[in-house]
Parts: sequence; structure tokens; C-alpha cells
Amino acid sequence: MSARPASKIDVANVVGHFINGVDVADDNRPEPISNPATGKVTRHVAMASQQTVENAIAAAAAAFPAWRNTPPAKRARIMFRFKQLLEEHADEIAAAITDEHGKVLDDAMGEFGRGVEVVDYACGIPELLKGEYTRNVGPGIDSWSDHQPLGVVAGITPFNFPAMVPMWMYPMAIACGNTFVLKPSEKDPTAPMIVAHLFKEAGLPDGVFNLVNGDKEAVDTLLNDARVQAVSFVGSTPVAEYIYSTGTKNGKRVQALGGAKNHAIVMPDADVDNAVSALMGAAFGSCGERCMAISVAVCVGDETADIVVSKLQEQIANLKVGAGTDNTNQMGPLVTKVHLEKVKDYVDLGVNEGANLVADGRGLVVAGHEGGFFLGPCLFDKVTADMRIYQEEIFGPVLCVVRAESEEHAMQLIDDHEYGNGTCIFTRDGEAARYFADNIKVGMVGINVPLPVPVAYHSFGGWKRSLFGDLYAYGPDSVRFYTRRKTITQRWPSGGVREKAQFSFPGRQ
Ligand code: NAD
Repeated sequence: MSARPASKIDVANVVGHFINGVDVADDNRPEPISNPATGKVTRHVAMASQQTVENAIAAAAAAFPAWRNTPPAKRARIMFRFKQLLEEHADEIAAAITDEHGKVLDDAMGEFGRGVEVVDYACGIPELLKGEYTRNVGPGIDSWSDHQPLGVVAGITPFNFPAMVPMWMYPMAIACGNTFVLKPSEKDPTAPMIVAHLFKEAGLPDGVFNLVNGDKEAVDTLLNDARVQAVSFVGSTPVAEYIYSTGTKNGKRVQALGGAKNHAIVMPDADVDNAVSALMGAAFGSCGERCMAISVAVCVGDETADIVVSKLQEQIANLKVGAGTDNTNQMGPLVTKVHLEKVKDYVDLGVNEGANLVADGRGLVVAGHEGGFFLGPCLFDKVTADMRIYQEEIFGPVLCVVRAESEEHAMQLIDDHEYGNGTCIFTRDGEAARYFADNIKVGMVGINVPLPVPVAYHSFGGWKRSLFGDLYAYGPDSVRFYTRRKTITQRWPSGGVREKAQFSFPGRQ
């Protein structure tokens, strides 16, 4: 048997796992992580083996009975301390996001802030779990409904919001009395790892929150283990569909949020300058790597389209692209070289399909960052519904302009699309806006608001193939998702009244 070759990997610089309140190393298939702005490998991340994931599930299962019985007010006090620690470490977490994801620091801070809002919401858990009570549903009989935690819950999250999307899940799951195993994206694992340590520092008992890094092996272990009661997933649609079908087949409660192709309608009466600024931020912010990014602008009428395209071209020419560590940049690099090549291939495809490429970011070189995964903003005009660049999610800085004849035509395009995550309309016409909001087949709608991401006390979710499952992420839906309802009916005999056997179904008293 030949000796194993010496590893060239610096094990001290491998992001491992966090199980039962301690760091756990695991040299199973370490994968490199690059800084997208330089293209250089900065550290590695351990891909958890099945055994490591099972250890995390066992830790969560062991912690559940005590955590389930911890009073909600005490759980809330830990959440308050956690929120305070998060805010104290905001700069460190935002820097980790920028280092591994590439987004500009201000944007990383924005994502982090939106995640912390869910922790704020979780601080109100005693109020949210109060349930319902009715006295005297019958003579001497009272009834109440209780929200009971499920047990061990898993979360599987994407690369594009390494801090915020996990926070859509575990603060509410844990506040509701569950214990949690998080499997974050293997592309940018450091921010969630910092957060796991802060949660412990806030006083969370060991085993209540566990984190395993990994890939399909880790995910499949979570999906197939009978101790895991529910799975929250956010990522691409093919994986969401797989998670939903496998998890539900195994008897788990599953919510799986998938991909998107978000359209913005620009009506002829819109404030065009406002609409164009909004489109720039929504299409190119975070390099288009947002599930709520606008990737299609549907302009109603050729005159509207001509003005919108020419103003977009002007602004694109001035958009500042560079390393995310410099807050004067408006757009950073794409997350990996593989993803950069995939997005570039889509731009080539659009040209071959006959769309009109009026801004081409393919030749962009950022001085001093020649090895970075940069692509300049790309704008296609005269895109049609039969093109793959229209039908498929590109997830990069590529905006497609489609020309429509009327609001109805624009809405039909949106309704016919397979995705239904977010959409918006730019108009000064209240009637057109109301008709749009009322009838469009999409889960989150903006009126003169390009990124209608619901605040923490509403819930987040799309329609059609953007969401598999019934309940949305965070907000009131999360209490329903992370708890099971139990309804208790109680009678205490009093005044010497004795029960007579009753053979018919309990009816009106
Ligand atoms: P992805 O689907 O590749 O990965 C998501 C998670 O699933 C990761 O943790 C990954 O390790 C795991 N995974 C990947 N392939 C798997 C497989 N074959 N089997 C089991 N697990 C697997 O997504 P991504 O590239 O990290 O993120 C981008 C996608 O996420 C985009 O499609 C975007 O629209 C979507 N997204 C959606 C929302 C939403 O709210 N709907 C929010 C953010 C991102």
C-alpha cells in the first residue's frame, strides 16, 4: 500500500464544523475558497463526511428536550444578547462576506442588517407563541391551541447571502424551541462560522445550534436521517425541487425556495429617471447575484424602451466596478471562476440568439485585480420570450430589455414565465399599479420599488417554481413552519356532576 502523499493544505486555515458548542476539524475532501477580487485561494473548507453530519444531528437531538422546555422569555433573552453581539461584530462579518463572496462592503453590511432584523423579530417570541384560548367551549370545558416545536430542524443555504439567508431560518427555528443543523454554502462559509461562535457567546446551550460545512453528501445525510423533522432550503430551482421531493418522501416538513427571473415593467407614464436608477441598482447590485435582482425590464411601447435603453447605456458607462473592499465601487466580482465563465457563456448565447447587446462587459479588466472574477455590466435590447437568455436564470450582471405592446402584454409575459419570485412596476397610474398588484402571479410585488424584499415581520417567498412548499421564510409563516399545532380540550368535573357515557359524536352543547 503506498503512503498517503503529504497534504499541501494548511489545516489551520481550513474552515471546519461547529458541533455541540465546539469547533470540529474534518479533513474529508477540503475544497479551496478563493477571494473573488484577486482569484487567489485564501483558505479551504472541509466537506463533512456522513459521520460528521450524524454527529451534528445527534448533538441537536440531545439538546432538544431541555431547549424545548426552556421558557420562551429565557430564549428571547439569549436572542437579545445575540443581536447585541452581532451588531458589535458587524464589521468583521461584513469583511468576511466581501472576502469570500466579493460583494461591496456596504452591500455586505446591508445584507447583514436585513438578517439581524429577523433576530429582532425572534426576540418577540413569547408574544408570537401565545396561541389561542377559548373558555367554556362546552359546560365546564375550556380549549386552547399550542405551538409546539418540531425537534431537530436543518437549514441548507446558498452562496449569495451567506449571513442573511441562514438568518431567515435559525433565529426563528431556535426561538420556537427547535434545535438546528445549518449547512451553509461551501463557497463562503466564514461569515456563518463567526455567527455560530457569537451565538454560543450569547449563552445558547451547546447542541442547540450546529453548523456543518459540506456538499451533497452532507445534504443527503440531513435529508435521509429520521431524526431531522423539517428542512428549510434556499438555492437554485433544480436543487430546491430535489430537496423538496426527497425530504417530503422521507416524511419531513420542507420549504424549498428556488431561483428567479424577476421582471420590472416600465410603463410609458413612469418617472423614467427614477425607474432607470432603480433598474441599475436592482440589476447590477451584488453583481446580479440576488434572488430578487431584476434581470428583465419590460418596457411598454418602443418609445419607452428607446429612452430606457439609452439612459441605461449612459449609466452603465459610468458604473464603477472593482474590489468589494473599496466602498466607492458599485459592483464587485462574481463569486467563482466557474460562475464567471457560466455567465459569460450566457452573454455569448444571447448574441447568437439574435438579441442586441448594447453594453458588453466581457472585456473588462480591473487594474491591479487582473486575476479577479470580474465581468462588467451587460445590457441586451430586443430580447424575446423564446430566447434562453430570457427563460433561464443567469445570476450575473446581465439585464434583458423586452419590448411589450401594453400592460396586459407585459403581465402575460410574467405570468407565463416559470419563475414567480419578485416583480415590480414603474408607473404614475394608481389604477394600473393596483391592477398589476392584484393580478400578477408572483409572490412579492413592488410598486415603484425595485427590490420588494419583505421586512422581517412579513414573510418572504415566491410563487410557481420559485418555491416548493406551502409556507414562506421568516415572519409569521416561520412560526407556523417551525411549530406543530396541538389543540387541547379540558374538563374538570365540579359540583358533583358525574359523566354519563355518551355514544354520539360530541355536538352542540
Ligand atoms: P445551489 O442550489 O447551487 O446551492 C444551494 C445549497 O445547496 C448549497 O448549500 C449547496 O451546497 C447545496 N447543493 C448544491 N447542489 C446540490 C445537490 N446536487 N444536492 C444537494 N445539495 C446541493 O445555489 P447557489 O448557487 O448557492 O445559490 C444561487 C441560487 O440560489 C440562485 O438560483 C438563486 O436564485 C437562489 N436563491 C434563491 C433565493 C430565494 O429566496 N428564492 C434566495 C437566495 C438565492
